[in-house]
Amino acid sequence: MEQTKRRIAILGSTGSIGQQALEVIEKHRDLFEIELLTANNNSSLLIEQAKKFLPNNVVICNHDLYQEVQKELNPLFIKVFAGLESAGDLAGGDNVDIVLSSIVGFSGLAPTIKAMKKGKVIALANKETLVAAGSIISNLSREYNSPIIPVDSEHSAIFQCLQGEKASIEKLLLTASGGPFRELDICKFKDITKADALKHPNWNMGNKVTIDSSTMMNKGLEVIEAAWLFNIPIDKIEVIVHPESIIHSMVQFSDGSVKAQLSYPDMRIPIQYALTYPHRINLNSKRLDFYELGQLNFYKPDTNKFPALSIAYDSFKRGGNTTCAMNGANEIAVDLFLKEKIKLTQIPIIIEKTLEKFTFISNPTLEDIYNTDKEAKQIAKQVIKN
Ligand code: MN
Repeated sequence: MEQTKRRIAILGSTGSIGQQALEVIEKHRDLFEIELLTANNNSSLLIEQAKKFLPNNVVICNHDLYQEVQKELNPLFIKVFAGLESAGDLAGGDNVDIVLSSIVGFSGLAPTIKAMKKGKVIALANKETLVAAGSIISNLSREYNSPIIPVDSEHSAIFQCLQGEKASIEKLLLTASGGPFRELDICKFKDITKADALKHPNWNMGNKVTIDSSTMMNKGLEVIEAAWLFNIPIDKIEVIVHPESIIHSMVQFSDGSVKAQLSYPDMRIPIQYALTYPHRINLNSKRLDFYELGQLNFYKPDTNKFPALSIAYDSFKRGGNTTCAMNGANEIAVDLFLKEKIKLTQIPIIIEKTLEKFTFISNPTLEDIYNTDKEAKQIAKQVIKN
């Protein structure tokens, strides 16, 4: 890699991706410098991280926690700011080379856009950004010369398979673990509890993405993410259930050749690759043992059990602001499920009802996208009350 250190801003440093990114960076202090850390509410972890990595700037989004963070970090000459607005402004600052966008949900969109407008390299972990505003983000990436490097493991796999290729993609094969309910009988879905849904078989992730995995909406979001990232028609993206999560995704080329990227599930691999791209550096991940694995399995996804996957394909085909509305409704539904106010099976129903009622806009502006998110969330809440 280069002689000079890459200066990193982490949007959402206390989340699962943010924490693992800091783990990677800690092992390679000679290659990276932390310029900015931001957190929503977890002030104690943010303070701990800041004391360890000594960034120039720190943002706590929740204004109520500002005093506490400020008091702890001021003596270390770390500048402390409050509010999501500041997170975006500072991520776009002159001292930042790469922005790791790892805030969960729609709220990751605004700060990511601010950083893109300053031409930053975006290591994108926030899939909702592309689901809500795919065409706007793609245009910004071109207009401001702000490259997007995927961090999501499937998209990183595809990105890695495409290195050195000039050939056109015939098909993307997006693998899915199938989540904790892959083998559960459909008639038992109504009894699924929050604790059941939070037990993902292969990946240790934040709550939102874990629930999304259990409904397979996560894979729906990822299909849309892949369509935008790799500029490919959605019909050329196939989801393959692969319970072992060893193959992280594949690309099929026009000569019938298929390339895949494999490893044991470990998010540090795609995170590190995004931060070091186009280089690869050492990582103490567990090495694959094919004799231990013995076999890998592949199944067709069951869209009767997991209707969210079909909803995602249909929403993308309907176009305009549809996937933004779908995402907004899903965020509300997942939040209510985590608060144990609705059943898991109600999540896709709430999304479908919202999609019947939202205001369709075929060519949405960024302002339209913010309004659509608001409207969809209101409708979803209303659907539950009725
Ligand atoms: Mn993923």
